[in-house]
Amino acid sequence: MSSPVALLPEVEKFLASSPLKSVVGGKDVAGSAGETMESIDPGSGRVLAEFAVLTSEDIDRAVGAATHAFTKSAWAKMPTNERGALLHRLADAVEKHKPIIGQIEALDAGKILAQAQGDVQNFVDTLRYFTDMAQHVQHRTTLAVSGHDAWTVRHAWGPCGFIFPWNFPFLLLGWGISPALAAGNTVVIKPAEDTPLSALYLARLAREIGIPDGVINVVTGTGSGAGAALSKHPGLRRMSFTGSPEVGRLVGQACGHNLVPAKLELGGKGAAVVFEDVDIPGTAQKLVNAITFHTGQVCCDATRWLVHKSIYRDFVDECKARMRAVHVGHQLDQASGMGPVVNAKQRDRVLSYLKKGQEQGAEAVLAGGPADVPGQKGFYVKPALLAGSLDNVAAREEIFGPVAFLTSFGDEDEAVAMANDTEYGLANSVWTQDLARAARVAESLVAGNSWINAHNLFPRGVPYGGVKKSGMGGGVLSIETLLDYYRTQSVVRPL
Ligand code: NAD
Repeated sequence: MSSPVALLPEVEKFLASSPLKSVVGGKDVAGSAGETMESIDPGSGRVLAEFAVLTSEDIDRAVGAATHAFTKSAWAKMPTNERGALLHRLADAVEKHKPIIGQIEALDAGKILAQAQGDVQNFVDTLRYFTDMAQHVQHRTTLAVSGHDAWTVRHAWGPCGFIFPWNFPFLLLGWGISPALAAGNTVVIKPAEDTPLSALYLARLAREIGIPDGVINVVTGTGSGAGAALSKHPGLRRMSFTGSPEVGRLVGQACGHNLVPAKLELGGKGAAVVFEDVDIPGTAQKLVNAITFHTGQVCCDATRWLVHKSIYRDFVDECKARMRAVHVGHQLDQASGMGPVVNAKQRDRVLSYLKKGQEQGAEAVLAGGPADVPGQKGFYVKPALLAGSLDNVAAREEIFGPVAFLTSFGDEDEAVAMANDTEYGLANSVWTQDLARAARVAESLVAGNSWINAHNLFPRGVPYGGVKKSGMGGGVLSIETLLDYYRTQSVVRPL
């Protein structure tokens, strides 16, 4: 192990304030049942801190606090530029605390430190982006209709619920709440039980810099407890869920029952379609980077690599050599190229798919398996490559680890058919120097997002979302997302 990064005193102090309370209506709140859970560093297996487990009564209070803040604090009615000044103050504060939040995020999520810091910057940039965009949203539009004076007006909805997964806790928090806050809504955030720390830190920071109490509430606890109570709450005006399709269905049902509009951002099983004219080493390296980025725990990853048969063997050999070279280690060790997976359950999930995949006939090009990191008791796996027929369970189901499944195709139509033969529809990529072919194939892939000669691209301004089992209700990161957080009302008077 090379030199691990030392923890900042502010990080030590934050962790030492365990058990960490939730923040509701600007106040620190312990769960009313008095229960706590532990948050663990997946790289070392060490307990980082305890946090409060909130009950459904506590969630009810949190939605009440968000409702009160919406109706009684100045937040919703504040001129957009004044709200914008406060949100810019929050973005500046997060940026100033980036080294602290970056370490907290790296420790809690098992994320390579530089990537965690990148996620914090991404939060800052997203918050600034939506805050600035909101300044230009037209709130009143006159309608040219005969015999009537008519117009529409945009209002914020009210309290919005957010449930987040553990893979990009802080980045997704930024993608989720920034447009909601910029439009004047209040939020109740339920982070994943594996990674609650960065959201709890944010709630404290928001309070410190003067965001009105109750505008940003963070409630911690289990999915079946706090998460289910939040998604069922009839007091919410909008809901946003990011996570697995299984839980997404439950959240969608609960919101459907209450007729609360829900945005569901779910899993994926993306394809990379690699044609015969690519630079083989360069493309192999980019796909290896993508599948090992955050240890493959990325919803939009390319996990099925479809390669033209004329270059298949060369391509597989390149990928194998490059995957083998990835250095697995603790997320704070500067020599590590890939950190742990988030917990023991996730490690077992990855290993079980490797086993089941091979039992169903997949070739283990690179067998993967548990990785041993000296001096650490965390949850490590090696990158793996399987190959064979796409009927295989490892080619059909989301594994959420550093495992890619390779197969070959003969022509463009076959490649498109293979890529589309999945229940998911999140993101795919096309790799070729022929840009006409690239555009044609990219548009033929049934998913929310297609990328050309790259994978995992998220420029702000390009809507990102899923179709089929990968999501519904609108995506994130674009003007449409901001507009989703206003309700439109019409006003008419006969002339
Ligand atoms: P998960 O669905 O298990 O959990 C997500 C969140 O839901 C957590 O906060 C959890 O506590 C909560 N939850 C669990 N049970 C609940 C219930 N009954 N009611 C309400 N909330 C409940 O997902 P995960 O394992 O944390 O994350 C991995 C999944 O997230 C993968 O499928 C991945 O593809 C997906 N994901 C999608 C995107 C996207 O943008 N499409 C982004 C990141 C992750």
